Amino acid sequence: MPVWIVRDPLFGDGGKAKIVDFLTEDPRVSAVVRWQGGDNAGHTMVVNGQKIAVHAIPSGVVRAKERPLLSVMARGMVINPTRVFREIEKLKEKGVEVTPENLLISEGAKLTMSYHMALELARESGVRKKDTTARAISQTYGFHRFYQGVLAGDLRDPDVVRERIRDPLAWANAIISQVYGQEMITEDQVMAEAKEWREKILPFLGNEILVLNQMLRTGQIVLLEGAQSGMLDADLGIYPNTTASNTWPGSIQSGCGVSSHWIERDILVIKAYISRVGQGHLVAEILDQRANIIRERGQEYGTTTGRPRRIGWPDFQIGRYVALISTSQASELAVTKVDVLTGIDLEVCTGYQINGQPIPIFPTTVAELNQCQPILTKAPTWQEDITGLTNFRGLPRGAKDYLELICSPYRYCRLSMIGTGPGREELIVL
Ligand code: GDP
Repeated sequence: MPVWIVRDPLFGDGGKAKIVDFLTEDPRVSAVVRWQGGDNAGHTMVVNGQKIAVHAIPSGVVRAKERPLLSVMARGMVINPTRVFREIEKLKEKGVEVTPENLLISEGAKLTMSYHMALELARESGVRKKDTTARAISQTYGFHRFYQGVLAGDLRDPDVVRERIRDPLAWANAIISQVYGQEMITEDQVMAEAKEWREKILPFLGNEILVLNQMLRTGQIVLLEGAQSGMLDADLGIYPNTTASNTWPGSIQSGCGVSSHWIERDILVIKAYISRVGQGHLVAEILDQRANIIRERGQEYGTTTGRPRRIGWPDFQIGRYVALISTSQASELAVTKVDVLTGIDLEVCTGYQINGQPIPIFPTTVAELNQCQPILTKAPTWQEDITGLTNFRGLPRGAKDYLELICSPYRYCRLSMIGTGPGREELIVL
């Protein structure tokens, strides 16, 4: 019963979609599943020179053009149907047809309602904004956690929806009007939206636990696609600059009903440097011109919001933390964007120090993190253009040494893939 996971253990944008796209070449992969987060994610693939971006819909949907492959938006996700249907339209414009035959939306997925969006937009337009992607992901999870959520399956019966929205709507309106001084959302507005969603979403709804476990029983591979990233996890990340969901494999069981016992491959996708979008700590941030060069070459601008990403050196304090939590025989590393670093004087951050003393583990609190200084050291470099290389032997010595160095904190993870360009085929597979 093989389960494969593709996830980013750092700050996101590592190029997971390309790795998912590559792995779905294997005909044994029958489903690609998103188990957490929402359309705050943005994954870009370049297929035959064409850029295709997905947000809430799993990246596997692109491969479904070529062979039967089910994309699953599982119950751990939050879903804004208006935006999902917009995404489906956009994919259609790129020649990717999304139908109930290749997309299953869990009846247990949590719906983002208009009052969640109103709360989010009110907060994000104020001085105390959190600098989110403004998708109301945390509002949706938050309401769900205090028993006031609406599930996608609730849309089957309008009376159930009316009942489910009564308390949360009153509560949200109190905040919208009294805290933010903005116009309240009416029940009619919410019900009209639910009616519109209902007709479109019903054909896609189902129970993913049944479907995925049936696949696994017959030896088919289920590929789980992480969104956001490990260091943005609500508990293991840098709180409060985290995402609202749990992003590590520990959340898979509750997120889609697949047992973590079956994990055969756990592929950690990391970039050859690090980047971070939005507020938040980046201890190993590059503060000179090299950051601009990497940002431009690597096109480090948010897929969802277009925000420029901050750039940092490979961070061993984080790498060791990730390895400590992840270590299993199933762990692999895919290092992407090595091509971006050609000809640049490189450094790595081997750890953090506070008052000149190295610290033993990645800090839990922002207060401690604020005191951390990076310990930087020079790293091997190379001059040869490696774009599009598919053969490990062809890599210059400096690139091989650099890879060995940046993988060293991830004990027990074996390097299995190296990205040498944005295209589907620009990959060295070991
Ligand atoms: P994801 O959210 O982790 O899938 O990452 P993004 O979609 O934000 O970004 C990855 C971007 O980098 C996409 O535009 C990819 O086409 C591109 N990319 C992925 N791997 C490589 C690589 O090895 N080299 C280069 N130059 N670009 C890559």
